[in-house]
Amino acid sequence: MADIVFRNVTKRYGGTLAVDDASFTVNDNEFFCFFGPPLSGKSTILRLVLGLEMPDSGEILIGGKPVNAVSPAERNVAMVFQNLALFPHMSALDNVRFPLVERRVAEADMERRVADVAAKLHIGHILHKPPAQLSGGERQRVAIARALVRDPNAYLMDDPISALDARLREETRVELKRIQRELGKTLIYVTHDQEEAMSIADRIAILESGRIRQIGAPAEIYDRPTSTYVARLLGSPVMNILKSVRGEGGVEAAEGALSIADRAAPADALEIGLRPEDIKVRPWNDKGTADGGSGRPARVFEVEPLGGYTVVTLAAGQARLKALLRGQPDIRPDAMVAISCEPARVHYFGQGGGALAR
Ligand code: ADP
Ligand code: MG
Repeated sequence: MADIVFRNVTKRYGGTLAVDDASFTVNDNEFFCFFGPPLSGKSTILRLVLGLEMPDSGEILIGGKPVNAVSPAERNVAMVFQNLALFPHMSALDNVRFPLVERRVAEADMERRVADVAAKLHIGHILHKPPAQLSGGERQRVAIARALVRDPNAYLMDDPISALDARLREETRVELKRIQRELGKTLIYVTHDQEEAMSIADRIAILESGRIRQIGAPAEIYDRPTSTYVARLLGSPVMNILKSVRGEGGVEAAEGALSIADRAAPADALEIGLRPEDIKVRPWNDKGTADGGSGRPARVFEVEPLGGYTVVTLAAGQARLKALLRGQPDIRPDAMVAISCEPARVHYFGQGGGALAR
């Protein structure tokens, strides 16, 4: 068992509150992701798990055992550093063996562990080669194998693939996800890339200035953000957030940009949130919508065709909105369109940006 628990952990550097009263449980075998902007405390949390930093207050447990007074070596948690560079003068095999040689692991045990990790990472056939003869993706897999061969209680990764180009990053994150599932090990993963967090994690913890703002499965956080802060962090383009006023039949957003016929809308809603994919866009002429449907007029400000879908920026009422449409619709800048949405897709936020139940 290697679940990792923080109970009200706080860590200060001088006047800076790097981790602010953090409580969470990373389950055994879980792929757990910390996501937040730079300086939000992600790396500090990893250093606290490793034992490289001591909390000012609170308790850390690994596998049910309090570890505040346990040395980093005894915690047996492996950090996979940002730099996954291989030793160029050693073969892939010697690179993978290196952490075991360093720890004087017995030869037979070493061979078994290397064979095991090589099979899981599909690198058995390239182990005899030096790094210079490997492709970028193969080098990544060898570097990951070198990190995994130690067989620790849990792995920690601090933005491990951010230096790779976009294509290799996508391949590597699929690979990491698969490896973690096959190894059945606890993995705490830090990233500042929301798409990476969404695609790779079993659960995500969202950080803001050392505070955990929300913890949940990616789909749960995406569908039910508990604050405008979290709502704005996930999604591409991000959620549209508009000032709103409660009226007779529902809600008016951004001074007439959108009308939401939702009698169940909370009375204390100050803002609404709408995902770009939840905005319906239809043609408009001077008699209203061409298909007779309802909607408010909006002017097309910019069109970004991305192949499979198109991002349309709209000027409506006092707001700029982004809508995400499938395919490549025939919409041009300056055209008028009608926009509307399903009331059930609307998020409501109140005082301080907190989400409101409908
Ligand atoms: P992240 O990894 O999310 O970028 P960090 O955990 O590195 O964030 O930093 C959190 C906060 O703690 C920041 O304000 C940072 O400046 C501060 N901090 C981190 N490490 C140190 C340190 N060794 N000394 C002083 N301040 C630090
Ligand atoms: Mg960091």
